[in-house]
Amino acid sequence: MSDLHGKHYDTLIIGAGMSGLAAGIRLAHYGKNVLILERHTLPGGLNSYYMRGGRCHDTGLHALTNATPAGAKGTPLAKILRQLRLRHEALELAPQRHSAIHFAGKRIAFTNNNFAGFEARLADAYPRQADALRRLDTALRAYPDTALDAPPGSARAFLAEHLGDPELIDLLLLPLFYYGSARPNDMDLPQLAIMWKSLFHEGFARPREGVRQILRLLLEKYHAAGGTRKMGTGVRRLHTDAQRVTAAELDNGEILTATTVLSSAGLAETHRLCGAPADATATPGALSFCETITLLDQRPREDFHWQETILFYCDSDRLRYESPDALVDPRSGVICIPNNYAYAPPHSLDKGWLRVTALASHAHWKALSPDAYAAAKHEWHAKLNATARAHLPPVPDARFDAAIAARDMFTPLTIERYTGHINGAIYGAPLKRRDGRTHWENLFLCGTDQGFLGITGALLSGISMANLHILKTD
Ligand SMILES: Cc1cc2nc3c(=O)[nH]c(=O)nc-3n(C[C@H](O)[C@H](O)[C@H](O)COP(=O)(O)OP(=O)(O)OC[C@H]3O[C@@H](n4cnc5c(N)ncnc54)[C@H](O)[C@@H]3O)c2cc1C
Repeated sequence: MSDLHGKHYDTLIIGAGMSGLAAGIRLAHYGKNVLILERHTLPGGLNSYYMRGGRCHDTGLHALTNATPAGAKGTPLAKILRQLRLRHEALELAPQRHSAIHFAGKRIAFTNNNFAGFEARLADAYPRQADALRRLDTALRAYPDTALDAPPGSARAFLAEHLGDPELIDLLLLPLFYYGSARPNDMDLPQLAIMWKSLFHEGFARPREGVRQILRLLLEKYHAAGGTRKMGTGVRRLHTDAQRVTAAELDNGEILTATTVLSSAGLAETHRLCGAPADATATPGALSFCETITLLDQRPREDFHWQETILFYCDSDRLRYESPDALVDPRSGVICIPNNYAYAPPHSLDKGWLRVTALASHAHWKALSPDAYAAAKHEWHAKLNATARAHLPPVPDARFDAAIAARDMFTPLTIERYTGHINGAIYGAPLKRRDGRTHWENLFLCGTDQGFLGITGALLSGISMANLHILKTD
């Protein structure tokens, strides 16, 4: 019999991703007896890391969004640091140099904490929209985005009310969709306001060591506060009566009980754990991505003159953000060059990195045989790299190919395997539960399907749900 058999906890947390860890820290700080259960052996969920060929690869991290400097007050990052009792310096954040949106023949650059510069470049490119852009920014900054009862709505409709130019609307939506929309071709209005500020006003940074550094700090805090976790042990089933979760059954058959359960597994996934029938308000998402990772023996900025940290591109005249009817839709995507953060000397990355993200179809990848899957990964790795290079200063094929030190790629099936998200849906269900409540009075959601997305969003989600439902504080 395991030492955990039959044990009772104040709170069980399903998932050691960003939201589960943040919730765990809050609860442990307040003396709660809390256990995090994670099916995988590594923490981090969607934003984790793995070793391959003796090197550590981040699975997710392009950017920590909402990058504000140490000492900034009232920002999402400041709130996270205060609530989790972390020091800004401990993250060793390197700010982006600059990023850009490449669409409709325009290349609009933006960087951290300089919205005025971005606005001026947009106004140059779309002079008739200059006043409308100013009014849009005022409206979005005034929007109560993180209020759990923020009025829902369509981001596209809101933008169309303010801007008269469909091309400009698509251009603005391109980075916002890729960094945080679970809805095909649209985005929740509160999410638009959150993302607008987090990308265009605040910006991007990367911890010196990547996602491992964030995870290490979170785990240190959690354990120092007395939190416990069980890795490599999933929750197989949640036993319920009409009102409550009565017990959690683990993959190894152990049964645990808890006063409350917080689940970061997703809404449909959590319903499934409860054995609940399919529910129209808990439809899983379908938007998923492929991502290529290429390690280079050359320095992207110095040797190839690739300047941007992140480049959002779209090659069509209209942006289509939807699950493709093909393995991959390379017509739009994100190019990330982690070397192009401004690391404090003497630090730099030991290799050149190129990451390319594009929309992909879970169903199409799922239909492949193992051999065809491996071949498709090989083929799409090359195609996505070629697509990305067409948006960057040219490097001859032979020179680029000779510089490749290692490569990898993940698909919607990888996301599904490592996070449990149905369809490999990167941002979960299109319909969010902002208050985190479920049909069962002691079971709450945190993370992706509560609705705050990305690393910063997931951390805030864990904090907010622990505060609201368990600690009953703000
Ligand atoms: C390719 C990629 C790139 C990304 N890039 C960025 C980026 O640059 N910046 C950014 O801010 N965000 C990025 N994201 C998004 C970000 O990673 C997520 O929004 C965030 O990490 C979600 O955290 P979460 O805690 O909500 O959920 P998850 O990370 O999904 O964590 C859920 C955890 O629950 C576990 N779990 C599920 N079911 C069970 C069960 N039954 N029992 C036990 N454990 C279970 C899973 O294994 C997982 O570890 C990226 C994501 C991907 C995939």
